[in-house]
Order: sequence, then structure tokens, then C-alpha cells
Amino acid sequence: MSNWPDWLPLRKDLESMSPYGAPQIDVPVRLNTNENPYSLSNEVQARLIDALSSALQNLNRYPDRDALELRSSLAGFINQQHGASFDFSHIWAANGSNEILQSLMLAFDGDYIGFEPSYSMHPLIAKTLGRSWRSFPRTSHFKIDLTAITSQIEGSGPGLVFVTTPNNPTGDSLSLDVIEKIAALAARERKLVVVDEAYAEFSSQDSAVCLVKKCNNIVVVRTMSKAFAFAGVRLGYLVAHPSVVESMSLVRLPYHLSALTQAASIAALGMQSEFLSHIEEIKAERELVRVGLEEMGLVPLHSDANFILFTGFSKSAEALWSGLVDKGVLIRDVGIPGYLRVTIGTRAENQQFLSALREFL
Ligand SMILES: *Cc1c(COP(=O)(O)O)cnc(C)c1O
Repeated sequence: MSNWPDWLPLRKDLESMSPYGAPQIDVPVRLNTNENPYSLSNEVQARLIDALSSALQNLNRYPDRDALELRSSLAGFINQQHGASFDFSHIWAANGSNEILQSLMLAFDGDYIGFEPSYSMHPLIAKTLGRSWRSFPRTSHFKIDLTAITSQIEGSGPGLVFVTTPNNPTGDSLSLDVIEKIAALAARERKLVVVDEAYAEFSSQDSAVCLVKKCNNIVVVRTMSKAFAFAGVRLGYLVAHPSVVESMSLVRLPYHLSALTQAASIAALGMQSEFLSHIEEIKAERELVRVGLEEMGLVPLHSDANFILFTGFSKSAEALWSGLVDKGVLIRDVGIPGYLRVTIGTRAENQQFLSALREFL
């Protein structure tokens, strides 16, 4: 069924795959990949240029392979946000949290479990590495059923359990209590729990970093791509027991984080209040979009993140999605029949989305 040429020694298990990709369509209102809609202020840009120009003087040399200064800065950021006491030995950094997820799957084998719908890259990365993936459906309201997962984890042996909170694409988050219960179940099987917190900064729940010192098997994955407004730089990280971090250095490519990425990220962490300054605004806009959707008779799901999954329209998701594209508004068809996901943008973008949508209802 595939169109790959015969002479290409492509792995059999990759032949039927297609590349991950939200369409990158050049339309005026792009609300499909959960980025922060605000670009960096001129002052922040100027300070980043200063940091980058010092790094330029040493571009003939390889970067710090262990990214120690960056990892210390990330620890300082997490400590300040969550009243914790981590240092660089608890932190690993990579090119986006996708690389962090890939490194975890390279280092830890065995049985992988996820609760879907959730972030589609978890099973995709597993597949590209030839790992087995077991998907467990959520309840009809997209919740994780603790009683059901007990039987799914029990007896499954070592490996990884993936939990996304706030969950993408559904938007709801888990309490620390539930995460701790999953971690206890997983620990009996020698499994790590990978808590993907790409949207933690928007959430009303505490971060699972608060559990890392108590539960050795919790690995919290974070990113600077979403709330931190730094998606173009590609910087993700994890917070975990130092033994998890040491395992990461076994599978990383040498010098995987460029000197420019490290310098830009360190500088950004030094200006965290500027970088995080739009979070409250985005949360307030999220509320306006939720109300706007409800006023049209649609059903927005509760969201603790910077996007909303909604349903209740009579057209198919594909038809509504492409109708909106024709009006210059790009949102996301996440593949759940009857549902679409919209990222919260600026006030003007959100209003354009709502009024384009209104025309179809
Ligand atoms: C966006 C997203 C990521 C990826 O982030 P990068 O750091 O940009 O690679 C990871 N996990 C979830 C759940 C996401 O939504």
C-alpha cells in the first residue's frame, strides 16, 4: 500500500506511517498549535540579542555538553514557581519536550501505557522507536478511571505510564492526589510515571514537581514552548530523581543543545516575569471564548490550559474546520469525531474566531 521505492531499506514498521504535523497554513488567525499569541517585547528582544552576541564569540567551540548553567537556571525557575529545592542534578534539558519524551523512551524499555485521547506524539514516538504502546480509553467525559487503570497497571511489569495534565486535547487536569495514586501503582511494577505538564503554567492544580522528592518514579516533563512564549527556540526539560537524569545522559547525542539555544534560554529565564506576563490575560480570554461558545449553543469542555476543546455542532468536524480555514481562521481537528480544539489567542484573534464560527451555526 505504500509508495516507498523498493531500493529504500526503510523499516517495515515505518512504511505505513505519516509524518506528524498540524497543517502550517498561512492564514491571518492561527489558533491551532497552542502557542502563546504574544511576541516578545522589543526590550526583551534586545536583551536576548546581547546574550546571543556573547555566545557568538565562542561558536567555534562545542557547547557545554551537560548544559549545567541552563539546568541550574531551570531548577531556580521551578524552585521559585513551586517553592521547591531542586538543583541541576534533578533537571535534564533538550530540544523541546518532544526530545525529552524521545530520550525517556530510548532509555527505559518495557511496557508503555497511555490514556487516550491525549498527546498524539506519545504513541508516535514510541512507534518510531519500535516500542509497544498500550492505549486505554478515557471515560465518555475524557476522565481517567482510577479503578479501571488499577487493573491495567497491575501485573504489567516495568516500563512507562504517560499522564498528560492539563491533558491535550481535552484540557482538564489531574489533582496531585490522583497522580500520587498512579505513581504508587506504577512503583509496584517498576514503572516510571511520565507526567507531561506542557501547560502547567495555566493550570489551577499544583504541579507534580511537588511529588518528585516523595515519589522516585515520577518524571515531570515541561516546556518553554507554550506559556513561556519560546516555541521557536525549542527548549524542553524534565524534573526527576537524579538517577533518571543520569539515564538521560546515556542516550543523548553529544552536544545536542546548541550554544545559541542554551544562551537564549538562560537569558529568558533571567526575565521570567516578562516572559510569563500574559498568562492571566490568556486565562481571562479563555473564559471569554468559553462563554462565546456557550452563547452559540456549543459545548466547550472545562480547560486548565490555553486551548478549549468544544463540541455540539451539527456539521462534521472536518467540514467546520475547513470552512473556518476558508475564512482565514486555522484551528485544530484533533481526530475526535464531533470535536474541534481552538487555541486561545489575542482578544482580536479570539473575536475573529468566534464571529467566523457564528456564520456556520
Ligand atoms: C506542545 C506539547 C508538547 C511539545 O512541546 P515542545 O516542547 O515544543 O516539544 C509536549 N507535550 C504536550 C502535551 C504538548 O501539548
